[in-house]
Amino acid sequence: MTEDTQKRLQKAFSGLSARQMRVLDIVDGRIWAVHSTMSSRQGAIYLVTYGIDQWTWDRHLHHLPDPKECPEWQCSCPDFEKRHQPCKHILAVKIMHAIPV
Ligand SMILES: [Zn+2]
Repeated sequence: MTEDTQKRLQKAFSGLSARQMRVLDIVDGRIWAVHSTMSSRQGAIYLVTYGIDQWTWDRHLHHLPDPKECPEWQCSCPDFEKRHQPCKHILAVKIMHAIPV
């Protein structure tokens, strides 16, 4: 695990335990909404997905691709968009579902 990911993992743990981050299941194992008030008081909602290319999927749930075709974790936050590495939202989802990081 890189140092960057380790830092974000700590942020994810502290955000979840302070209830500054909440993870909502949208589609089991594939789509989550993460509400975070860690960076601003009113908070922001990001979409975390597994096996779905957020930049190309057609947003119709009945057209969800096979996760094997796109096994990547993605998040709609600026950090993920910039780094394409696990952000604290993806890590929060993994922590909540006991998925190895
Ligand atoms: Zn994120």
